Amino acid sequence: MTAHDQQVDIAIVGAGAVGIAAALALAADGRSVVLFGRPAAPRDGRTVALLDGSWRLLAELGVVPALADKAAPLAVMRLVDDTGSLFRQPPVEFYASELGLDAFGWNIENADLLAALAAAAEAHPAIRIVPHMVSGIAADAAAVVLTGADFEPIRARLVVGADGRKSRVREAAGIAAQDWSYPQVALTAILGHRRDHREASTEFHTRSGPCTLVPLPGRRSSLVWMLEPREAERVAALDDAAFARRVEAQTHSLLGAMTVEGPRGRVPMGGLSVTRFGASRMALIGEAAHVFPPIGAQGLNLGLRDVASLRQVLRSTEDPGSETAVSAYDGARQADVRLRTGAVDALNRTLLTGTGGG
Ligand SMILES: Cc1cc2nc3c(=O)[nH]c(=O)nc-3n(C[C@H](O)[C@H](O)[C@H](O)COP(=O)(O)OP(=O)(O)OC[C@H]3O[C@@H](n4cnc5c(N)ncnc54)[C@H](O)[C@@H]3O)c2cc1C
Repeated sequence: MTAHDQQVDIAIVGAGAVGIAAALALAADGRSVVLFGRPAAPRDGRTVALLDGSWRLLAELGVVPALADKAAPLAVMRLVDDTGSLFRQPPVEFYASELGLDAFGWNIENADLLAALAAAAEAHPAIRIVPHMVSGIAADAAAVVLTGADFEPIRARLVVGADGRKSRVREAAGIAAQDWSYPQVALTAILGHRRDHREASTEFHTRSGPCTLVPLPGRRSSLVWMLEPREAERVAALDDAAFARRVEAQTHSLLGAMTVEGPRGRVPMGGLSVTRFGASRMALIGEAAHVFPPIGAQGLNLGLRDVASLRQVLRSTEDPGSETAVSAYDGARQADVRLRTGAVDALNRTLLTGTGGG
């Protein structure tokens, strides 16, 4: 350690939703936290459906009041077999009330969620935000030193990699990852519509993947539509009015005439899984540790469960980067992450079977 290095308990690399949530959770437990990265998300029509457990974690972290009027409850989940198969199943509906819940979860624009989390982190006295990229990560037995062009080196007892799919932390920890792509692109948009969504999310399962409408406050819904790449390019090139008509046709006019609200997005689909969730005083959370297509609202919810697990493990450990703590975190995440990644991959490949994809 040089005289200039600053020491903290935990450094989090990556200020996406998962990284900021981790900063808030660990700071609430009395740890000194440095959060690296610039918290911002583009408005590209992307929303996240946060399931009940995630919402409760966000409530505990104090961000729900800032989200309440921007999020819509998901009281009904409807699945529609839209594959055109001769033996197609009738639509299936699940009601939150059957589980004694008001809602399965809440849907919110990614950009609004990020803004609320960032405001809470900025206001937290135990979190220091360094709005820069980390370029160097070197671990020794007692700490990890993080360096970058725009800040003084920082030593942390634990480094949390929340730095997304191309994680540098994962690489520095020597954790092997397997990644793959699917012959699909997801188109995202926010749509206004004439009919009420009645708090129901509808997933149309087509042969190129799901086309899902998820409620937002008012007569608005978000769209995640997975298409074969060339078709996605054609649909993305439509102007807003033609795009809205195309979505209305694809969703069988379930919500009536539609209009596009704001910018649209396009995300190539892929997956990633890791062999371990931590090593050498580093732990991986969110998309640094797992990526899969947006089917059944799993990705960020799984990332927030990473946060809850890490927090739980660290509560009983003095040194947050100790081998015991990192191994306990790894053990705690193996089953949940493997189960979700495997299930979403299998469902997606089943839908793609017969289209020449997969
Ligand atoms: C179309 C679509 C719809 C989705 N819908 C849902 C849904 O309904 N429900 C759900 O649960 N999930 C959903 N997901 C998944 C969810 O969006 C992701 O799981 C989540 O956003 C991942 O967050 P993250 O913080 O792990 O990663 P990211 O958002 O990728 O954040 C990583 C951050 O790290 C920063 N970073 C990278 N390297 C460095 C570095 N060296 N130094 C500093 N910072 C760095 C990046 O700039 C970025 O800000 C959806 C995904 C897609 C594509």
